[in-house]
Amino acid sequence: MTFEDLNLLKNIHQALIEEGYETPTPIQQQAIPVILEGNDLVGCAQTGTGKTAAFAIPILNSLHRIVGSAKKVKHIRTLVVTPTRELALQIGASFDTYGKYTNIRQLTIFGGVNQVAQTDQLRKGVDILIATPGRLLDLHKQGFINLDHLHTLVLDEADQMLDMGFINDVKKIIKLTPTNRQTLLFSATMPIAIRELADTFLTTPKYVSV
Ligand code: AMP
Repeated sequence: MTFEDLNLLKNIHQALIEEGYETPTPIQQQAIPVILEGNDLVGCAQTGTGKTAAFAIPILNSLHRIVGSAKKVKHIRTLVVTPTRELALQIGASFDTYGKYTNIRQLTIFGGVNQVAQTDQLRKGVDILIATPGRLLDLHKQGFINLDHLHTLVLDEADQMLDMGFINDVKKIIKLTPTNRQTLLFSATMPIAIRELADTFLTTPKYVSV
């Protein structure tokens, strides 16, 4: 299978070509069509398998149709929740790379830094928000984040969020999002608490594992 076979928009495909991507990795081959169709997904995959692109590519492809021109009003359409600042920054960089020929705006937020730069960007409007759980809840509580227009929620490295004690924060975040959202859950391992999370908050998800 090549990226051609996935029928991506030219804007996204071109960025992948420029990155030197020719063949989708196994998680990408399985997950991209499922996500493009709007299904919920549980992806069992470690870092290094290409899992970031497995969700970033189809999300950008779908958003590009909605976002259109740069002038359109921005709402948060995609939220990616991830355990650490490093992961958040990596995911942001991936969205930047694959989305460079789109008007999609994205922002990465995390704790431990002054919030003003982040809230300034939120005021201007973003389509994709990548966040660590604590800072997300904090800025939501302060009224800077509105998730009413969310289409897709990504829970990245769910098992690590569990290990770091973020599971209740994650549940709180899920409850702030519309019930008709698309939910994508990625985890390197599938402990019971993560399976329960998937059973409770995902709607007839497809399972992919690499
Ligand atoms: P990840 O598992 O998301 O941390 O990605 C691991 C690395 O693989 C990243 O550096 C990506 O840039 C790279 N990568 C992801 N998908 C592909 C692909 N289809 N072809 C070549 N490299 C890729």
